[in-house]
Amino acid sequence: MEPISERVVVDRAMTTKPPLPAELDTLRNDGVRPAFQESPIGVPVQVAQGIYWIRLPLEGMVDHVNVYALEDDDGWVLVDTGTNSDACRSAISDAFQYAPFSDRPITKVIVTHYHHDHIGLAGWLVDQGASLFATQVCWLCARMLQLDSRERPCKEEIRFVERAGMNGVELAAFLRRPPSNYANAVSTIPYAYHRIEQDQTLRIGDRTWMVHIGHGHAEHHATLWSDDGIAISGDQFLAGTASNISVHPSEPHVDLVKKWLESCERFMKLADSETLCLPGHNLPYRGIPARCAQLISSQQSVLLRLLDLLDKPKTAIECLNTLYRRTLAPKERETLIAEAVGFLNHLQVQGLIQSELLGDKVTLWRKPPVTRTPLGKK
Ligand SMILES: [Zn+2]
Repeated sequence: MEPISERVVVDRAMTTKPPLPAELDTLRNDGVRPAFQESPIGVPVQVAQGIYWIRLPLEGMVDHVNVYALEDDDGWVLVDTGTNSDACRSAISDAFQYAPFSDRPITKVIVTHYHHDHIGLAGWLVDQGASLFATQVCWLCARMLQLDSRERPCKEEIRFVERAGMNGVELAAFLRRPPSNYANAVSTIPYAYHRIEQDQTLRIGDRTWMVHIGHGHAEHHATLWSDDGIAISGDQFLAGTASNISVHPSEPHVDLVKKWLESCERFMKLADSETLCLPGHNLPYRGIPARCAQLISSQQSVLLRLLDLLDKPKTAIECLNTLYRRTLAPKERETLIAEAVGFLNHLQVQGLIQSELLGDKVTLWRKPPVTRTPLGKK
């Protein structure tokens, strides 16, 4: 008879370290090189034949967004638009006073994704004669979100931050503050648009661009890849900062990190190290495969850091300082709760942590306890 002794069945959470394949490790060290120096706000910079980079001003934690003017046969195609602000409108108007823009109109606007800093002036430009191109999800999200006009947070938003562990003075301030309504940051999203989809090609001037769709940062995020080695990446893969991967109170349990990592792996294979990346923020750069490898590796480090913290139960808010390796200011905390929940959702979907709702108010996350099972038994 088999002796009955006790063995420790070690939970996956204690041993599983997301592996970093050797190929990723090599790529990561290949280097990401800025292709241009920082340019003044509103001044077009030629980054390739027939392509101009224009930085537009933003208020808030990110102080600018990049848009790109592509020369077409009958005018200009603008990729992304900035937010619906006087500052962005002036910057676009001023930029298009410069040669070679001044003699031809903006005929098309392509938006990479529905975030207000990328689609905010699409309606304004369409009113002046341009046509809008976007993925269907982008257009639907923008049309839907512009209906929101609330003076106070709704019950789902309150439940979201309470479950993340917000309480006391911080919660009271959150309840008093008007939400940042999407409609305030976008001009009216046009009723009609042209749909762009995965693998669609767009002929613009002398180039053919292929559409590739990414996920995680914004659902159905369009990226454009030219036949001569240029990629317009929106916020899908940036240099200098990682894309925000936030879960929203409207869909609090979704695993966006998985979708984003899958997209990174796909885009890494589309580019070579010389592909010129024109991103939605920060500097244009070369080295997309290396950058995607860095981003995957960095996300894995964040997940491991979080996993190490969760030997004991924590709320999402209690994870923030460990996640970001510093003490966050109150406004940052409120913004980054959504990203912390995203990481926690991902670990839970992987089976590495579990959650427990305390008193229908607060969610606690932790590794599952170690299970002891007698040998010979299942
Ligand atoms: Zn974005």
